[in-house]
Amino acid sequence: MSDSDSPNPADVFGVVADETRMTILRALAEAPYEEYEGTLTFSELRERAGIRDSGQFNYHLDTLVGQFVERTDDGYGLTYPGELLYRTIVAGLFTRRTELESRDVDSECLDCGAPLEMAYDEAVLRIVCSDCDREYMSVEFPPSAVESRGDDCLETFDQWVRHHVLLMNRDVCVWCAGPMPGELRYRDDDEAPYVARNCEHCGGFMWTTPGETVLYHPAVVSFFYERGVDVTSRPLWELEFVVSDDAVEVRSEDPWELVVTITCEGDEMRVVLDGDAEVVEIEDGAV
Ligand SMILES: [Zn+2]
Ligand SMILES: [Zn+2]
Repeated sequence: MSDSDSPNPADVFGVVADETRMTILRALAEAPYEEYEGTLTFSELRERAGIRDSGQFNYHLDTLVGQFVERTDDGYGLTYPGELLYRTIVAGLFTRRTELESRDVDSECLDCGAPLEMAYDEAVLRIVCSDCDREYMSVEFPPSAVESRGDDCLETFDQWVRHHVLLMNRDVCVWCAGPMPGELRYRDDDEAPYVARNCEHCGGFMWTTPGETVLYHPAVVSFFYERGVDVTSRPLWELEFVVSDDAVEVRSEDPWELVVTITCEGDEMRVVLDGDAEVVEIEDGAV
């Protein structure tokens, strides 16, 4: 495959730097699927976009065709990039500056027992201890979700983070679906190593904890399930093995042998990772 025929990103984004073109994209994206099945005729599209001047409409529609809009015998629809661009704009990632003052979360600090609190700013949701300042989460999250979901926003945030982590754990970049291998590495002066994931295609980078890496391992999910706990829906910041350095033990650094200790209802299991953050062994409690 070659990139030589691909358009320049600056030209591509220049195409949508126009109010009328955004109106056309919005009209395509918001046309009810049951009615149009993703394709609108020229006149349907013009009517939904509410643009009277047909010359203007025609000109702007033409500039969108190819990149963001596809033209078929049946009419016009969004291409995948068109859809992605529109959905990202609607999520508020380019245009909204939502902020939330700190508020209590219905969970306690694993260190000191004080209530945790959340705050939202610059598209990042943070969960910290209200007393000892320990940080539990600090992850990008769409402004529209914070605005529209109200009190459910934390549950949504938890699932959002989990599913991003799950993709990366399976070597899939959350941004481009490129390969995203893991590697155990120390982060600044943290006592326990983290898992660094770096996309080989787009350069996307993410730190995850060793506990997050084993979160959806079948042995871990069933260890909890057999003890009456659904580990797929308990908030990440309440799971000690996910957020606590104490659950992580380095047995060897060359080659790497890292142990994550998981406890539930007084029972214990241990998951052993190698330097690529792959599970190589399950010890004890696993049934
Ligand atoms: Zn605390
Ligand atoms: Zn990528």
